[in-house]
Amino acid sequence: MLKYTAIPILCLTLFWSCNQNPKVSSNETNPKLVVGIVVDQMRYDYLTRFYNKYGEGGFKRMMREGYNCKNNHFNYIPTKTGPGHASIYTGTTPKYHGIIGNDWYDKILKETVYCVGDTSIRSVGTNASSGQMSPHRLKTTTFADENRLFTQGKGKTIGISLKDRGAVLPAGHTANAAYWFHGGEEGIWISSTHYMDELPNWVKLFNAEHSVTKYLTEWNTFHDISTYTESGLDLNAYERGFNGKDSATFPYPLDKLKDANGGFDILKTTAYGNNLVTDFALAALTGEDLGQDAVTDILAVSYSSTDYVGHNFGVNSKEIEDTYIRLDKDLERLLKGLDDYVGKNNYTLFLTADHAAVNVPAYLQSVKIPAGYLNHAQTRRRFESFMEQTFNSAELIENISNDQIFLNRRLVHTMGLKLEEVQERIVNELINYPHVYQVYSATTMSTSEFTIGIEALLQKGFNQKRSGDILIVPDPAFISYPKTGSTHGSGFNYDTHVPLLFFGKGIMQGSTHIKTEITDIAPTMSALLGISFPNAAIGQPLDFVLE
Ligand SMILES: [Zn+2]
Repeated sequence: MLKYTAIPILCLTLFWSCNQNPKVSSNETNPKLVVGIVVDQMRYDYLTRFYNKYGEGGFKRMMREGYNCKNNHFNYIPTKTGPGHASIYTGTTPKYHGIIGNDWYDKILKETVYCVGDTSIRSVGTNASSGQMSPHRLKTTTFADENRLFTQGKGKTIGISLKDRGAVLPAGHTANAAYWFHGGEEGIWISSTHYMDELPNWVKLFNAEHSVTKYLTEWNTFHDISTYTESGLDLNAYERGFNGKDSATFPYPLDKLKDANGGFDILKTTAYGNNLVTDFALAALTGEDLGQDAVTDILAVSYSSTDYVGHNFGVNSKEIEDTYIRLDKDLERLLKGLDDYVGKNNYTLFLTADHAAVNVPAYLQSVKIPAGYLNHAQTRRRFESFMEQTFNSAELIENISNDQIFLNRRLVHTMGLKLEEVQERIVNELINYPHVYQVYSATTMSTSEFTIGIEALLQKGFNQKRSGDILIVPDPAFISYPKTGSTHGSGFNYDTHVPLLFFGKGIMQGSTHIKTEITDIAPTMSALLGISFPNAAIGQPLDFVLE
């Protein structure tokens, strides 16, 4: 009986507190536009390392006027682009949204699939297959999807990135459009029939003007290179560079190097790729009438050149420093465009990254930090002979990819073996291999609960339906990559620690060192808008960020 009498009081209390709570949003107080900015491969320390090189109107303006979450991390493995963009916008991890890599081995199709690849649809804007992309492998909704549902489809969603997956996954299932860059000989923005049958006029016009050609010029440093004191020597042993140029040193004559480096695709690996994205994002603002009425629109912009440059030249390069100095100018230009078109206090923006990156291991070795490279071919041979000796069959190995082993489960069954026992024998074998830090089986991932550390991150990245039978964690700073350039994918801080800045309408001014997680972003945006959380979100709204 006590239980029943308590209910009306509870209801009244909730009703009262809801009415008194200024954080409950309504359409009149919501921002007209939410802008999500993802900077591909941006480490948190790029905010601090290059701070003195930034102007007042870009990163610094967001830090000064907005809220800076300085201890923001990815909370799963693998820290890669597809999973990163999906997690930011869905508020959940690969365990639930299903994007377990950029590519992965599909156990049912028995082939490797690409996270946004979709052969059931057609390219729009090109005859090439690069437009055959959709979010069909993303199992859950993004906050942009929830905004579409909440607004009866009146709030628009537009996704933009050089990379297809950087545009498609944030925009979600219900987006009006996602646009990505098709380089090669065309140098144009394209889409797919998931969104439209033909490009809108403003995109056709943008492509026809071919303003992309103006970036095929010389790439030299924005400031005198001697002032770039926050990075290593321009000429060093840890950079790959471009085909057709002997050294990875400034300046780069892009017009001359174009043909040997994929035509217009060369722009992706220069600071100018971000200029191109900004040009297109500003064109989208007016082309799509974003933020022009009381119904909130969502613009998802992802800057990918930072990742391409990082992969080619590494975390400590002059090329990375120049790319961030120039990106800062792009952000200033984008904010100015938003101020002018949407109005200064009419939009809310967040900026984060889809993952960070490790310093080039060869460089780390040179300064005595434990680091190195994995020899997959050697490991595979040793593992195959173990399987031969132990189970009389290397055929039990169906696929090895993304630090996971997929067993041929049918063969395990027909050979009369117990899956759990096979997995356990493999775990006990692999943990003895050089540069293997941890090994877990799918059974352990499904039956244990890890709450902290690398194991917990591995578990949040483990999808029961899509992931492999064995999960391997390499040693810190050991990567499977050439000895030039940086990469990412681990659960260590160099890969998980990324910026998180909030700015604009409804956002407090301040900063924190309290740990926040990448999955908190979507619930925070949902709370700001007063809409449902993405359907599998596990993060928490960051209350201290919201006014
Ligand atoms: Zn990358």
